[in-house]
Amino acid sequence: MPHAPADLVPAAVAAVRAAAAVCRTVQADLVSAATLEKGDKSPVTVADFAAQAVVAAALKSATPDLPLVGEEDAAALRADDQAELRAKVAAHAGQSEADTLDAIDHGGFDPATDPAQKTYWTLDPIDGTKGFLRGQQYAVALALIQDGKVTLGVLGCPNLEGGLLLAATSDTQTLRLPLEGDDLSGTPTRVSGNPDPAAARLVESVESAHSDQSRSAKIAAALGLAAPPVRIDSQCKYAAVALGLADLYLRLPTRPGYREKIWDHAAGMLAVQQAGGTVTDTTGKPLDFAAGRQLDHNAGVIATHGHFHDRVVEAVQDTS
Ligand code: AMP
Ligand code: MG
Repeated sequence: MPHAPADLVPAAVAAVRAAAAVCRTVQADLVSAATLEKGDKSPVTVADFAAQAVVAAALKSATPDLPLVGEEDAAALRADDQAELRAKVAAHAGQSEADTLDAIDHGGFDPATDPAQKTYWTLDPIDGTKGFLRGQQYAVALALIQDGKVTLGVLGCPNLEGGLLLAATSDTQTLRLPLEGDDLSGTPTRVSGNPDPAAARLVESVESAHSDQSRSAKIAAALGLAAPPVRIDSQCKYAAVALGLADLYLRLPTRPGYREKIWDHAAGMLAVQQAGGTVTDTTGKPLDFAAGRQLDHNAGVIATHGHFHDRVVEAVQDTS
């Protein structure tokens, strides 16, 4: 079989590590320059573009036949008035400007335009942009989709537990690896074994626009959760469940038309599943990655350690 997921783990891990290093550098500048309060979005734009360029260039060389569905494209960067930003992005990416732009646009694949292409990467170069800007949690999320299934996921979490990386394939247990260096052995990680809903630790978005926090409070009350939710940005919520640091992640739609993006969930979902947890949408259906760039057939997400997933789905369904 071409492209056995396990064979691609080293390249995927190296690419995410390189992108995370770029993000850390930009975030450190951001904090020391105190640009956070000013709402100046350009530093994060630099990191988004540079991280995508780094991952895309690495993948292009490791798997030249596989396209990439990336969150970013270089159209805005190519504009005449963006010379300064373009130069900064290229400097952080460590590539020429032309190579940087080409690499970013390597991420422009849309599965809908080429249904015969059944295997592709998907990347969120910085998931949790708001967290990145606040100096808090964010993730570099890379996954491989084959025939509509997520078969490989690598999640870099530079600010979680001092920085870590999770790597999973559909036939191997989720591994926790250092974010830096080139160690690929790692430690297998498992979800928590806590069967008691009263003791369950809930994680949800910081951003109330991304998940309905008043509904989650009602669900938590219905389940008898004692502790208030812990709010963190990005797929670090999936990482928290996969690592056994949290038991339950709720993502409850704030409006009916919103469709989740594949790059916001593929790597995180696999990390939880291969650590022994369960991931569905808010109706209890599996996430369907066969629909293109979005999860068109799903609404929201419920990720748990698996011990009372059905009860959570019921509680979510019973609460509006
Ligand atoms: P989080 O940090 O978990 O709140 O999620 C960050 C992600 O939320 C971003 O990558 C966006 O793609 C996504 N997002 C943007 N708008 C919405 C929305 N209205 N509902 C759910 N997710 C959203
Ligand atoms: Mg995202």
